[in-house]
Amino acid sequence: MDRIRAGSPPQLLTSRSAMEHYSLMCHLCGISMDRNYGGMTCRECGGSLYFVYQSNAFGPDRNQHSMWRYRSLLPFSQNAEVVSLGEGMTPLQKARCPSSVGIYLKNETTNPTGSQKDRALSIGISKAKELGQKTVMLYSDGSTALSSAAYAARAGLKNITVIPKGAPVSRLVPIAIYGSCILEFDGTDAEALEWAHATSMEFGIFETSTYRRANPYESEGPKTIGFEIFEQLGSVPDWIVVPVGGGGTLSGIWRAFRELQRLGITSDLPRIVGVLPQGYSVLEQALISGIRSEDEFRALCLASGPPTIQVKISMTCPPDGLETVSAIRESNGVFVYASDSAALQAVKTLGKCEGIYAEPSAAVAWTGIEQLLRQGLARDGETVVGLVTGSGFRETGVLLESIEPARISVNRKTGAGTVQKILDG
Ligand SMILES: [Zn+2]
Repeated sequence: MDRIRAGSPPQLLTSRSAMEHYSLMCHLCGISMDRNYGGMTCRECGGSLYFVYQSNAFGPDRNQHSMWRYRSLLPFSQNAEVVSLGEGMTPLQKARCPSSVGIYLKNETTNPTGSQKDRALSIGISKAKELGQKTVMLYSDGSTALSSAAYAARAGLKNITVIPKGAPVSRLVPIAIYGSCILEFDGTDAEALEWAHATSMEFGIFETSTYRRANPYESEGPKTIGFEIFEQLGSVPDWIVVPVGGGGTLSGIWRAFRELQRLGITSDLPRIVGVLPQGYSVLEQALISGIRSEDEFRALCLASGPPTIQVKISMTCPPDGLETVSAIRESNGVFVYASDSAALQAVKTLGKCEGIYAEPSAAVAWTGIEQLLRQGLARDGETVVGLVTGSGFRETGVLLESIEPARISVNRKTGAGTVQKILDG
């Protein structure tokens, strides 16, 4: 594996202690809230919350080999206890395929539970502990569910996972092993998401769903992916290709580069590419229609989409959709689509050529890169980074329906001849 280490990593920020390094603001009415405010939306108008960091916040702690090296740009008190399993600082490896474009893969499968969600949940569970919460809750049967259960276990908190009815047992086993209570919700995804949110509010439970209105703290997690790409590459790539489910990862990465620009670290910005499953086009429709309000966006959403093996990113109404569309618009980026056959092919390519076992929903980063090249969008000499979001080890159940591993029958008599043929081939 060709792991990139920047020869002289760029200095992100100056080393300087700052106790009040961020403030909490509502994007609708513009008021700021006390940093100890435990709510997830604006106390005055119910708007979404964002964080504003001091321009003199201090830079990466190079003694930390995790995403917590960027603590000065995370919404977290300097002296609060961090719940960490070693998330972040994932490899950025140069792809083996020969190309006039420089292709790199940011391998998020190496996170503790196998996906980029560990970044958000390390922040979320740490914040829950800081606020004195004893129980966390979310609706998910995917990467976020796994991550929440693991980090809650590490923190000694009770975790309640609300799952859709009929969720595959293979996905539930690790959640149960992490000690989570599992509630199977009888209803649509939208109803379940709303119920988990309302129930968390009613009982004063800390919600760990990763979209902004449920938990703005966790929305800061994906930002560290952008910081790492910048630090590992030693520059801003021309393109970053990101599989899109709820949209929080893509928009978080974009915010990282805007933050670096604001801090005067770099004037360059990447163009962002969102990869969606074929048939899930609400984000592109919103982009084309120039939608800028939550109500307008929701009006475009369909109740259901076509069946797909890209289970982690098949969302008909991405909860951070509006922010995602803004990121694509501002970065002059594009949305591209992956069919299931292309996703499967990408799983095989990443496995065989790169040594990365990705789930279909993550391997489509490769599909996105191929489309970028095919459409002539990425030009000679440019740099493209693909985000491989999640490990295939957690989704072998899905792949079983599509891949039949070739097995050659051997015994003590025929085995040597078969091996010789493989060596000759
Ligand atoms: Zn407000």
